[in-house]
Amino acid sequence: MKEALFYKRLYGEDVKCTLCPHDCVIKEGRRGICRVRKNEGGKLISENYGKICSTHFDPIEKKPLYHYFPGKIIFSVGSLGCNLHCKFCQNWEISQTGVKDYIPLPDSFPDKIVGMALQRKDNFGIAYTYNEPIVWYEFMLDTAKLAQKKGLKNVMVTNGFINPEPLKELLPFIDAFSVDLKAFTDEFYKNYTLSRINPVLESIKIIKDAGKHIELTNLVITETNDDAREFMRMTDWIAGEIGDDTVLHISRYFPMYKMNKPATDVSKLMNLYEIAKQRLKFVFVGNVRTGEGQDTVCPNCGKTVISRMGYSTEVTGLDRKGRCAGCGEKILGDDCF
Ligand code: SF4
Repeated sequence: MKEALFYKRLYGEDVKCTLCPHDCVIKEGRRGICRVRKNEGGKLISENYGKICSTHFDPIEKKPLYHYFPGKIIFSVGSLGCNLHCKFCQNWEISQTGVKDYIPLPDSFPDKIVGMALQRKDNFGIAYTYNEPIVWYEFMLDTAKLAQKKGLKNVMVTNGFINPEPLKELLPFIDAFSVDLKAFTDEFYKNYTLSRINPVLESIKIIKDAGKHIELTNLVITETNDDAREFMRMTDWIAGEIGDDTVLHISRYFPMYKMNKPATDVSKLMNLYEIAKQRLKFVFVGNVRTGEGQDTVCPNCGKTVISRMGYSTEVTGLDRKGRCAGCGEKILGDDCF
């Protein structure tokens, strides 16, 4: 447990958490929407500080990040809680719970996590993932600062539902972001995640403007966010606001948690893939076995420059600066290779 950053004392012992756009007003003894930030006597406490429930060395492609150190592994850590309540959550056992409702976890510390990350020589960084790292902001920040000093990269896998001020304070320490763009309507965000879309779009723009590496993931859910016109609007927005070189992962949904719509029809997913490709240079298909939408192909000369089979990745056609070895087209950003 640690005192939270980003909160205000209100009248009496009430507090207002300003970490995410829910801006929860929390009475003494109660918790916020994320279930892991508690008002104790007028002080806001991060109850999940150091409560790490999962650690694993993963391929960076699992985050998913396809244009950031392709083929490398990254030490991945997760905690408990989430500020969204998605009906289709894939990790609901750890995200839709608080510390008091979960099996007791030992305390971990930033130096321990960094030490574990350094144990493997082929590991290049730490990914804050599995549950939403916004709700363990303090532990992520402390760990990321230490990791950076040790020469490790920091990666955040996030829903992007965070207020601008805490996001901006985090930016100097996080090198790459994998952001879920769950749909392109506020109605979807309200009905299926209990949040709003505009703060997410604003976060994506802030991250991009800061020059950080960012990739977006859109989970396509049957009869829920799979409308082709809505998808066109989303990909137009990405191309116009973030750039047509933004990596977009479109991912197949399977029934999970409180959502029982049938799995996404693969032909529908591939139709959206074709729509996205007309607007964006790098589009990938996830959660589906298909030869298409896996490799990185140079948008200028058509040469395959990174080949993927499942989580096995081979860089086949890039020069040492991450450009196409065939025609010199820039594929990867600076410091991504
Ligand atoms: S981080 Fe948690 S407590 Fe704070 S505003 Fe968001 S949901 Fe509420």
